[in-house]
Amino acid sequence: MTELLFVSISEGKYMHRLPSAFEFQTSAETLRAHHWRSYTDTYKGCEFECQYCLYKGPGEYGRHVQPVKGSIPARADLGIVDIGTTTDPYQPMEADQKITRSILEAALEIRIPLFVLTRGNLVLRDVDLLRELAKDGLVEVCLSIITLNEAITTRIEPNAPSPTERLRVAEELAAKDIPVAFHVAPLIPGLDTPENLSAFGKRLAEACGSHVFSAMLGARKPYWKPFYAGMDAIADACGSFETFERAYPRDFDFSRDAAGTCDFEYALPALTPLRDGVTEGGATYVSENYPFLTTGPLENGIYRWKLPTVYDMSSWVQARGGVVEWPDFLDWYRDFRPSDRLVELVKSLWDNGELFLGTYLARQGTGYTGGGELMLPAHHTLVAKRTPVA
Ligand code: SF4
Repeated sequence: MTELLFVSISEGKYMHRLPSAFEFQTSAETLRAHHWRSYTDTYKGCEFECQYCLYKGPGEYGRHVQPVKGSIPARADLGIVDIGTTTDPYQPMEADQKITRSILEAALEIRIPLFVLTRGNLVLRDVDLLRELAKDGLVEVCLSIITLNEAITTRIEPNAPSPTERLRVAEELAAKDIPVAFHVAPLIPGLDTPENLSAFGKRLAEACGSHVFSAMLGARKPYWKPFYAGMDAIADACGSFETFERAYPRDFDFSRDAAGTCDFEYALPALTPLRDGVTEGGATYVSENYPFLTTGPLENGIYRWKLPTVYDMSSWVQARGGVVEWPDFLDWYRDFRPSDRLVELVKSLWDNGELFLGTYLARQGTGYTGGGELMLPAHHTLVAKRTPVA
């Protein structure tokens, strides 16, 4: 009897229907950065105690961390499950609790694809399971990192593995054929010089060889005071708080929303060198900021919100009226600086008809046109096997 230790899996409110039958690495879903339909956290709270943590609040932070256990029936319609959206799945207590490991085991058994986000080097313990998942295209590991400057990280990520260690983890995973990416989160204006950010992006690209996501620091109204105290510690570590304070003033304007990031004019000086370094290193750069907004126009060579998702692509095709052929699509898509590897992936999905599954486009010859029926998978290979709970 296998006990399922899945924590309750929540369905994100911004999500859309995801096809579930694709091999992970060639799935259109990997292009949709941040549009995960399902996510789970294996712990309530986090022992890494990062100063900038968005979930810093009474009773849900630091050493009061408690593992979360529960069970759910295996479901075929979860799509890719994102582990580690709010608390780290490989924080120290996982060494004993093994809750994250139990999820990997269950996912392998019932064939659910996982995206694992962590700062923890303990992820290497599970290489055996990750390799098995990777063989079937069912996993990607994403290392979260904010800078290579260890003088800063020892102050603001006191219990997390060093950036050097996280680079080593990524390289080790990649060497074992486990897909790996980086998540620069939070990207904090003023933390690094433009030169350092560029070198940082390049180093990450070289270590993972695939893609680097970034997300600007998020501000949350309920936690703003303790959060800003953490930012003061960052200021001490950086020696200057000016850039940060301009981007995130103490009296941050939450009138539009209880959650927010800095205005784009402050984000751009950090996004630009990071993007340049990542693309120079041969990986794709994906800015995930403001993922709930439309993509908007290119500004100074930076796509304002994010790399186009499949739905952005389909909107673009629909807006063109007639049939859109690949060369025209490619001209538009190249503006966003995708890596050659990503262009190759998009082209293969364009050709085999998977790129626009779940959207209202119709295939016509070698192109696509708007106003079609909802495109559904032609085949459905993911069969969820219900595992008995002890
Ligand atoms: S690793 Fe993530 S969840 Fe844990 S303290 Fe740091 S930011 Fe918060």
